[in-house]
Amino acid sequence: MSLAFNRHRRLRQSTAMRSMVRENHLHVEDFVYPLFVAEGENIRKEISSMPNVFQLSLDHLLEEMEEVVSLGIKSVLLFGIPLEKDECGHGAFHDHGIVQEATRLIKEHYPELVIIADTCLCEYTSHGHCGIVENGKVLNDPSLKLLVDTAVSQAKAGADIIAPSNMMDGFVTAIRAGLDEAGFEDTPIMSYAVKYSSAFYGPFRDAAESTPQFGDRKTYQMDPANRLEAFREAESDVAEGADFLIVKPGMPYLDIVRDVKNHFTLPVVIYNVSGEYSMVKAAAQNGWIDEKSVVMEMLVGMKRAGADIIITYHAKDAAKWLKEN
Ligand SMILES: [Zn+2]
Repeated sequence: MSLAFNRHRRLRQSTAMRSMVRENHLHVEDFVYPLFVAEGENIRKEISSMPNVFQLSLDHLLEEMEEVVSLGIKSVLLFGIPLEKDECGHGAFHDHGIVQEATRLIKEHYPELVIIADTCLCEYTSHGHCGIVENGKVLNDPSLKLLVDTAVSQAKAGADIIAPSNMMDGFVTAIRAGLDEAGFEDTPIMSYAVKYSSAFYGPFRDAAESTPQFGDRKTYQMDPANRLEAFREAESDVAEGADFLIVKPGMPYLDIVRDVKNHFTLPVVIYNVSGEYSMVKAAAQNGWIDEKSVVMEMLVGMKRAGADIIITYHAKDAAKWLKEN
């Protein structure tokens, strides 16, 4: 008796067969590991809402880098935690700011490593917003100048990629022009092109001490309900000269990652953010999920959705797990 149907299970019958037909793979080269570098000494402070993620002062940074590099990770993303904050976020664009110093230190020891500098002001401003604030409003154009200063000082310190994250209109144009003028025409811009105003950033704000002191970021970050707006944002950044497009957060926005991948030809970066990480960690600590399986499934799901690069706090664990296999 022959019934007419397809036998999909033929290709799933053994480990070897399944691996032959596997469509997407994770590689350690896919990962970017975010680091929180803190001004001061002898700081190695675990972030309570992000188990196993630390704020590190420069004297502890190299131990961390040794581990990162030994695992085969090729790139880190730097966030800074200054000792002092002010209205304009001077620490962001100071030539001896914490990210600039950390960049120099890492480059000195690991010249091959790709250093991505987060280019924003919110970790450095007393009000915690990503730009200049006047009468309770975050101003667009005046904030661009400070972003350009930040980007140029990061490039001078040796950053390989500038990653502007503050979602001001025209930031790619402004930074491109600023970098070019300063002689950094070869420094690429990894734009946070599609960044939603997300509750998943909560634990990051503990980590980076960047919670807005009033209001929220909804006038510059995107409404989670919107899809077409993501095309508009990405189109602008492509036109302005971005070299990579970031979609942030990750998991709840995989449809957007696919859209961006299908419609643009630049490398697509997904930011698997702090809240996604913390949820997995909390569930794993409770014994409710198998951490390794869940993390690897999430990460390969991001590849399948179209991400070429994954910024993730799971990078070190995932790199270890890839080595085991
Ligand atoms: Zn910011």
